Amino acid sequence: MTNKLIDILGLMPYEIEEGLLEMDEQAFRGKQVVNWLYKGVKDFDNMNNLPKTIRKKLREKYTIAKVDEIEKHQSDNSETTKYLCLLDDHNIIECVVMKYRYGNTLCLSTQVGCRMGCSFCESTKQGLVRNLTVGEMMGQVLLANTDISEDNESEKRGIRNIVLMGSGEPLDNYDNVMKFLRLVHHPDTLGISYRNITLSTCGLVPGMRKLAQEGLPITLAISLHGSNDEIRRKIMPVASAYKVNDIIEAGKYYFEKTGRRITFEYALMDHLNDGMDNAEELGVLLKGFPCHINVIPINEIQDGLYKRSTENRIETFTKTLESLGLQVTRRRELGEDIGGACGQLKRGYLDVPGNSF
Ligand code: SAH
Repeated sequence: MTNKLIDILGLMPYEIEEGLLEMDEQAFRGKQVVNWLYKGVKDFDNMNNLPKTIRKKLREKYTIAKVDEIEKHQSDNSETTKYLCLLDDHNIIECVVMKYRYGNTLCLSTQVGCRMGCSFCESTKQGLVRNLTVGEMMGQVLLANTDISEDNESEKRGIRNIVLMGSGEPLDNYDNVMKFLRLVHHPDTLGISYRNITLSTCGLVPGMRKLAQEGLPITLAISLHGSNDEIRRKIMPVASAYKVNDIIEAGKYYFEKTGRRITFEYALMDHLNDGMDNAEELGVLLKGFPCHINVIPINEIQDGLYKRSTENRIETFTKTLESLGLQVTRRRELGEDIGGACGQLKRGYLDVPGNSF
């Protein structure tokens, strides 16, 4: 019964208006519904400028994706908040809000689990469970938005930036991610600027090229993590399918199409990919390409397979890249103390013993 209902959080505003017209109601009722939804109202019965008859019709046709907060962890310095969210089918996902000077950023998940298998990443350890729906991605934004405005009445700025860097590979859930991006950007929903959105991929070349053709000016971040195919193959199974050169070509194509600089993410692992020779190799690869390198000291996950590079090596690596004319930033490390840093997001199940709701 429930699964016959349409998730209204996965619909564009015009689709909601069409839905109201199909119910023999007026289109402006659709606008009212959209208003409520993006204020974070999760129950048609609370949409109190709608007549009861319409609310009933809405309930009979639609549902509102369930993304309920079950736990919230705040880092010691309160800059990072991790939310554990319960979905309708009892899967659990995580998302993280980071407070930056230029606005609040939400790191959201695009899949329950992930099938990319990167060996340094917690989110993929148990494989892919399923794709998230458009509404479930939007639900994470609304949950965070609601919580932030409740938390801080005076600021009420909500989420300004979105990074698709939680669990999952966004280009492996392509259609839902695209619709989510268009929806969250729509002026009648949250109106988030494309320039404030970053999509991170482990390097799925066909998806990157397809994304370039969409012409959305979002930032594309590429998880490179190795200066050659051999290193990448050791830590990222996807490297057997796509070569570094092809990934960089796809990045250049993305830049040509969108005019947006690519960000390369490079997680430093002690004596694996953090040598001066690696920095030099990267310098040759990226010479003359308008891009940005984000160096991230690896967050060690439970199995302890990879060690974080020493400060000395991090510094030498970064300086070498700079001396080769590349633009480098070291990612601020946020949320490690609450398991909310990159690669630490997990997925869970309610049937873990002891968990019940
Ligand atoms: N699947 C996408 C997005 C999710 S991960 C991707 O691969 O890009 C977001 C970023 O965190 C990626 O760059 C990923 O490689 C990185 N990451 C994963 N595990 C990490 C870890 N243990 N320490 C630091 N970064 C990690």
